Amino acid sequence: MKAARLYGIEDIRVEDIPIPEINEDEVLIKVKASFICGTDVRFYKNGLPGNSDQPLVAGHEIAGVVEKVGARIKGYAVGTRVGVAPNYGCGVCDLCTSGNSHMCLESEALGVSVDGGFAEYMRVPAAAVAQGNISPLEDSISFEEAALAEPLSCVYNAYEKIGIYPGDHVLVIGAGPIGLMHIRVAFLAGAAAVYVTDLSEDRLALAKKLIPEVTVLKNETLDEDIKKYTGGRLMNLVITAASVSVIQESAFKYVGLDGRVMFFGGLPKGKSIVKLDTNEIHYKQLTVAGTTRQSLRQYRLCLKLIASGRLKVSDLVTASAPLDDINSIIANVAAGKGLKSVITI
Ligand SMILES: [Zn+2]
Ligand SMILES: [Zn+2]
Repeated sequence: MKAARLYGIEDIRVEDIPIPEINEDEVLIKVKASFICGTDVRFYKNGLPGNSDQPLVAGHEIAGVVEKVGARIKGYAVGTRVGVAPNYGCGVCDLCTSGNSHMCLESEALGVSVDGGFAEYMRVPAAAVAQGNISPLEDSISFEEAALAEPLSCVYNAYEKIGIYPGDHVLVIGAGPIGLMHIRVAFLAGAAAVYVTDLSEDRLALAKKLIPEVTVLKNETLDEDIKKYTGGRLMNLVITAASVSVIQESAFKYVGLDGRVMFFGGLPKGKSIVKLDTNEIHYKQLTVAGTTRQSLRQYRLCLKLIASGRLKVSDLVTASAPLDDINSIIANVAAGKGLKSVITI
């Protein structure tokens, strides 16, 4: 089969390798759609994650069809259209049994610590099968939409942790695909107004085109505009959806009394120490939180949300290419071109 394997910094090779063997407790997926994420771009720029020296098939935003099921597998049939959540745990610790397998100390992830979706076929390990990482799809959801349930459920995790309430004024810093998902979730949750800012004028224009009800705030006049639009009360919630340290620092300036701040975008290694006036947190009575990845419950909920038509993601797909073009398409994503780019197989 064809697979894109990461060997090191800016070294992805599309190779012909054997179709993975599965044991009696595993499932083989024929991949149909696999999106490129900021994490994949980080691997491309910084090399293999962890201490591994084995080439890795990256790709963790995946949907496909069940190709083969192990002899002891119940509940999955060949030919079923499925979405595959990437994170799974040991299955027995307190975090796993409380529905937080993505936080398990032994957690693994398809496309990160084991081979993922940038290939024609993907083996789903026994632990992931047993934990329910493979989700059958409703007819109303496409492979691409299903693959986007992965990033959407990361956003949904942030929403559940920090809360968005009817009447809230919400500022999203960063108009990339993740920022746009935060905006849509905020409107769905009943926010009175959602604002977005970004250094890129192109991204702001695209945000306005896709979500006409969002208020676009230009970076140069951000301070005045936020005061003007909120009558001086500032934001109920600020979400940072960009991996820039000054953005995390500025979040405290834009949040009002009794407000909340969600640190969503991670910062590059070595650049994650930011200046923080803790008096702002204390005297403004702020809640500050962060989230990472998603639980399986949140993943499945987002599949349902997309299938129901209540939350649109299909218009975030701005590029589609075959596996052979993965190098050029990752370079485009790294350069901030477009929103979501998918490898179709
Ligand atoms: Zn991702
Ligand atoms: Zn565990």
